[in-house]
Formats: sequence, structure tokens, C-alpha cells
Amino acid sequence: PLVLGIETSCDETGVGIVRGETLLVDAVASSVDEHARFGGVVPEVASRAHLEAMVPTIERASREAGIRLEDVDAVAVTSGPGLAGALLVGVASAKALAVALGKPLYGVNHLAAHVAVDIVEHGPLPEPTMAMLVSGGHSSLLLVPDVTHDIRSLGSTIDDAAGEAFDKVARVLGLPFPGGPYVDRAAREGDAAYIDFPRGLTSRRDMERHRFDFSFSGLKTAVARWVEARERDGQPVPVADVAASFQEAVTDVLTRKAVLACRENGVEDLLIGGGVAANSRLRAMAQERCDAAGIRLRVPRPGLCTDNGAMVASLGAQMVARGRTPSPLDLPADSSMPVSLVQA
Ligand code: ATP
Ligand code: MG
Ligand code: FE
Repeated sequence: PLVLGIETSCDETGVGIVRGETLLVDAVASSVDEHARFGGVVPEVASRAHLEAMVPTIERASREAGIRLEDVDAVAVTSGPGLAGALLVGVASAKALAVALGKPLYGVNHLAAHVAVDIVEHGPLPEPTMAMLVSGGHSSLLLVPDVTHDIRSLGSTIDDAAGEAFDKVARVLGLPFPGGPYVDRAAREGDAAYIDFPRGLTSRRDMERHRFDFSFSGLKTAVARWVEARERDGQPVPVADVAASFQEAVTDVLTRKAVLACRENGVEDLLIGGGVAANSRLRAMAQERCDAAGIRLRVPRPGLCTDNGAMVASLGAQMVARGRTPSPLDLPADSSMPVSLVQA
């Protein structure tokens, strides 16, 4: 099926078009520069930017894909979770497009879409797949028997998301927003063993109660304290070493728990998705540890890890291919949609 997907859960206006498991186009307009001076995404600014970018981005996508909108078989849209006003722009646009074209509408879960995007990169998902979703708002381990309707959460962060920790540490180090890519770059010149930062929820006791949960707020605080102490002593802050040591602590915990989740559930395929999956150290460490454990690893290319429309189109195409019932046309935007609900 030819499916157009719309994504507006945060600050990216994404329109992707796929044909079955083939990506035709992934058009993204981001308002990230408008948020940078606030040090975080401002919801009203994001909603307004989506309104302005939506029609031009849909037009650009259909032009670059070389298709006519009349030819799409279905329209898919992120219906949650995300910023309420931002989601509303995407959902209203998708409804209008579906009605105008007389085509079915699928309101899908943003987190499931972060998983489904890898189908256009690496082909059909083994069933089940273990998915680790690490992004600006989420950090979860998901057992995925069927990405179109059965996703089970094994654990998630009990405080900050991994991407949030990257962004906060970047701020402490004086790096721009959003900080993940800057920490990644700075860390390449640093010594990852320079500081032994805490690995949250990995003590023996925590592994009983929070086996597949994560915690990054203690780590973030430890980094801030370490940097403050240095500054108080009038010493220069070794930015690259702090970035590398912080990044090592995050990736160590993430990959350790992901491999354990695979082992204990008898799953041989691990997929990592979400913005933090673009991190070079995470990708390298996950590959090493999966190789050692006999697990096949799949990670989408960095451009498909962060928010985009292709992920929504990819999940929509799976919905159509599997004969799932379309969503109602009065489909709501659900800012706190749980990951267990794949379709609205
Ligand atoms: P969610 O998907 O949970 O709703 P989101 O949509 O804001 O959150 P994404 O766009 O998937 O999140 O990811 C953005 C996050 O990924 C930001 O926190 C950003 O710093 C982080 N990120 C992007 N690239 C990298 C990188 N190379 N290393 C570490 N973090 C990164
Ligand atoms: Mg973003
Ligand atoms: Fe996302």
C-alpha cells in the first residue's frame, strides 16, 4: 500500500510516504531553532510552526515522491503521546486530508512508530522483537510480538528520559540545545573512564524491583555536582571527558538491560529506536554486546531515529497490510497515549 504519514508530536513537522516496506520520501521541517534560545521546546511555538509548515511539507513530500495525493491508499498520523496542541495540528490535518481524498485514516502511537520505522530500513520485524526506545520523552524496554497491535512494556524510566539527561548535561557543560548530538560529538575527544559516574538501578536490590526500569536523574545530578565542584575550585572543566564519562554511564546501563531483557525473554532480535539511538557510542556498545550475546541488532540510520513522518507512514502501511480497521474520523489527539495502545 501507498501510505502518507504525518508526525507533529513535538517540534518536527514530518511528512513521510512509503510504499509497503519502501521509503519514498521523508520530508521534515523543524522548529528547533525557534526553541533553542528558550533551552527547551515551547509548546505554543511548536503548534504555530506546525500550522505554518504542514501544507508546504505535504506538498514537498508528494512532489519529491513523484506521487499524486489521490493515489495514496491511506493516511496515518501520530495521535499521541506528545504535546497536546502540536498533536492536534497533525490530527486535524490528517483528518482533512483523509476526508478530502476519501481514504482511510489511521491514528497511531508515536512510540510504536519509532519501532516500525526500521521496517523501511531493514525489512520485516521478527516476531517477537525486543525494542529499546530511547528519546527525549521516553526510555522503555518493549517486548513487541506485533508492532500493529501488541506491544508490552517490560520497564521504563522512573524519572528522566535518556534524551532529557543528555539535554540537561549539555546545558551544564555549556553546549547548545538540543544537547544530545553535541555531547556525542564532544565525547569523541574525551576519556570515557575519566569519571566513574553512577549507573542507576543496577544494584542487586534495584535489579530485583526495577529489573528493566531506568533512572537517569541521579546521574544528571552527579554530573552537575562534579562540574560545580570544579568551577568552585577555579579549575577548568574537561568538557570532553565529562561528556564521554556521562555518555558511557548512560550507554552501559541501557545496553546491559536491553541484552538482559532479550536473554530472559528468549528474544534474539534487538531494535533500538528514538532520538538517542542516533548516539554513536550507544550504537557501538550495543553492537559489541549483542555480538557477544548472539543477538541480532537493528538500529535505523540516525535521520530516522529522531522524529519524522516516515515512521508514521511505515506503521500505517503495516496496519493496512495486516487489515487493521481504520480509526474513526472523530479520532482524538491523546497527549498521554500509553505504548500498549498502538492505534487510537
Ligand atoms: P518522544 O519520542 O519521547 O516523544 P522526542 O520526540 O522529543 O521524544 P526524539 O526526537 O525521538 O524525541 O529524540 C530527541 C532526543 O534525542 C533529544 O533529547 C536529543 O538530545 C536526543 N538525541 C539526538 N541525537 C542524539 C545523539 N547523537 N546522542 C544522544 N542523544 C541524541
Ligand atoms: Mg525533536
Ligand atoms: Fe519521538
